[in-house]
Amino acid sequence: MMLSSTDISPVYRADRDWRQVLKQAWRKPAELLDYLQLDPLLLKGIEAGQREFPLLAPPAFVRQIEKGNPADPLFLQIFPLVAENQAVKGLLQDPVGDLDSQASPGLLHKYRSRALIITTGACAIHCRYCFRRHFPYSSATGMRVDWPQTLDYIRQHPEITEIILSGGDPLMLPTSQLQDISTKLASLPQIKTLRIHSRMPTTLPERINPALLNWLSGLPFRLVLVHHINHPNEISSQAKDAISTLTPYIQQQLNQAVLLRGVNNKVTTLVNLSEFLFANKILPYYIHQMDPVESAGHFICSDLEALELMDELRISLPGYLLPKLVRECAGEGSKTPV
Ligand SMILES: *Cc1c(COP(=O)(O)O)cnc(C)c1O
Ligand code: SF4
Repeated sequence: MMLSSTDISPVYRADRDWRQVLKQAWRKPAELLDYLQLDPLLLKGIEAGQREFPLLAPPAFVRQIEKGNPADPLFLQIFPLVAENQAVKGLLQDPVGDLDSQASPGLLHKYRSRALIITTGACAIHCRYCFRRHFPYSSATGMRVDWPQTLDYIRQHPEITEIILSGGDPLMLPTSQLQDISTKLASLPQIKTLRIHSRMPTTLPERINPALLNWLSGLPFRLVLVHHINHPNEISSQAKDAISTLTPYIQQQLNQAVLLRGVNNKVTTLVNLSEFLFANKILPYYIHQMDPVESAGHFICSDLEALELMDELRISLPGYLLPKLVRECAGEGSKTPV
């Protein structure tokens, strides 16, 4: 008898499936340009950026890019443009000072009641403005979570009531590993809320599979999912399906966006983004002034421009659809309002 695919446990088949999709992500700039019918001249001078932080563009995201449009707001977020070579004053390799604020390896405790775990350095997409672009987080020694030390630290800090799974993208971990992590955290009665920061429901919606839902359904925490969606075009019909599948399992879905020149620094775009999010039961949470990271200066909007956009947004949107404009400052006790 032939072994059909239905004979494999659905849980493992599903984990294999999203990894297969990730293997189909675009990694070669020339091939992506060819597919998007864009000018190969865009390849000129991009070697340094590509070497440091290589293109990684998953299928669901690429399908949302308009062919033949080099100014497409999704394309700009993932393609290593020659503009990355511009030296811009005041840009830093580690703008957030994260490497200095580890409470124990892999654990960041900057804000009193919540601690953040860097579960993995990997993501399903490489965003050009990411402040992690200069750090090989996945390989850097000292970035592996030291679990005994992490659990001890949390126990000694009863003020921590919320754990944030971040990275990289925590949903890049196999579901079995997520299960291990949540089991460890469940041994700490002080933890009331588990928050997951992920870009995968929109970049790799295939990740929202039965195994993941099964994991979510068994968690003894209030669950918060913070999406990372910068532009309404990112919410494909496949992403919509993934988000609505998640809805019954999550107490609150939120979104953080980064304000990016050429991508979303327009009132109409940000109004649409808030409305699209709301239509999918997600509330806008933060809009971040970009971390001043080297090689991404071409994305930066001035504070003045950001504040003017916010003034317009306040007029156009109900208060509950207005994201808070913040930036991350080393040494502050919370995100800092601009
Ligand atoms: C952003 C962040 C948090 C969460 O901050 P909230 O304002 O609660 O969303 C927690 N820890 C670290 C290290 C962070 O960067
Ligand atoms: S998904 Fe987040 S962590 Fe990953 S590259 Fe993009 S911005 Fe950086």
